[in-house]
Amino acid sequence: MEIVKQQNKMNCRLLMFPAPFQGHVTPMMHLANLLYYKGFSITVIQSTYNPINPTNFPSLTFHSLDDGLCEAYSKCPPPDSFKAIADMNSACKEPFRDCISLILKDAAAATDQDPVTCLIADPMFTFAGVVADSFNLPRIALRTGGMSSYVVYLSLSSLHEKGYFPLDETKLDDPVLEFPPLKIKDLPPETHHHLLTNVLNETNTSQGIICNSFEELEDASIARLQQTLPFPIFPIGPIHKYQPASQVSIWTEDKTSIAWLNTKAPKSVLYVSFGSVAAISEADFLEVAWGLADSEQPFLWVVRTGLIQGSDNSYTLPEGYKDIVSKRGYIVRWAPQAEVLSHPAVGGFWTHSGWNSTMESISEGVPMLCLPFFGDQSMNARYVSEEWKIGLQLEKGMKREDITKAIRKLMVEEDGEEMRNRVTALKEKADLCLTEGHSSYKYLDELISYLLAL
Ligand code: UDP
Repeated sequence: MEIVKQQNKMNCRLLMFPAPFQGHVTPMMHLANLLYYKGFSITVIQSTYNPINPTNFPSLTFHSLDDGLCEAYSKCPPPDSFKAIADMNSACKEPFRDCISLILKDAAAATDQDPVTCLIADPMFTFAGVVADSFNLPRIALRTGGMSSYVVYLSLSSLHEKGYFPLDETKLDDPVLEFPPLKIKDLPPETHHHLLTNVLNETNTSQGIICNSFEELEDASIARLQQTLPFPIFPIGPIHKYQPASQVSIWTEDKTSIAWLNTKAPKSVLYVSFGSVAAISEADFLEVAWGLADSEQPFLWVVRTGLIQGSDNSYTLPEGYKDIVSKRGYIVRWAPQAEVLSHPAVGGFWTHSGWNSTMESISEGVPMLCLPFFGDQSMNARYVSEEWKIGLQLEKGMKREDITKAIRKLMVEEDGEEMRNRVTALKEKADLCLTEGHSSYKYLDELISYLLAL
């Protein structure tokens, strides 16, 4: 799928405001690119923390907030994401207001600039709505997670009333009757509810939601949201598939991983990555290492800075491990993930079940081994393993024997083959929905008309 740059300009400028985490930057930048190709002028406003390199997007305009965050947060990822989000919300609000004011003033003064018609913001920035309202600037939210988890979040207060919280440690494996196939342990703990409520509030006061999902994947949740919410929702995903891969990575991608994959047999390699934020203990890191080794499957493993709790940039592999790795393993700091997943040598993805990773895996027909850490990841993993049946989940700790067994199941056993067949069928649906006359394509058209009418 490749959208050709539209010749007729839309004569309006969209402001886009990504939250500074890779899982939020990825879909926002793909969306920015897509809307640029559809004829809009695009200005990206970004924090100084985790910025994307503007030279990767020469057709877009960039503004950097004077937020002081690059000094406050040199470490990446932050040791405490919740505190980081709170800090970012307080540090960015006023610089964001100043930035919007400047952009609007400049646009009004210039005769050769497109008027600014809308802000597309990540609702993790919970002040963007108030600021946009103060300038009478319409605002659309980009939801970077799935729609099924969004429905659950919207129901938190009723789940509270029904007594689900605080989560009962003795009942974690019991079903959530209102949301099959979720289990109680998949629900967000109470300590996360304050942030979730603020983010929901920011989302629900927007004039529309763009979602990186597609109807054929989450039809029931999308239909439910369409009935509940007073504004339109636009499930236009998988957003990264409209354009050829663009440089949306905050960190440098190690392209040698592709050269290494080129030497491997079709569907033989397990790709292992736990996203941009999750961290594991040193003991678990060793179990992962030995589980991979004992599975006897080739693997490409992302050992990112910050992956091991409390460690700096370095990590130590167990003795004798280098030999194993040199024969059939490859370790990188950061991979070109979308390209890796589309490589014919990749036959499975051991993932933390972040929403982008889940969508990228589905889009390439790669079955998953899920190891969720926090946030919506447990819900995503449950849908992958029990609703769509395109993966399995590691649920009983991190013992190397269990890891080895699960990897072999996914990569070489019949169960894994069935998951591969199901996810291939889903990939075909994902490909189809982006084409003329099908769901995401239609929603994208609707989104464009909506933006033009604001
Ligand atoms: N990613 C990447 N290279 C890596 C690991 C991750 O490009 O080595 C990208 C991945 O393709 C995805 C994003 O980082 O788009 C991670 O987002 P996700 O929602 O899966 O997880 P998060 O990092 O937010 O937990």
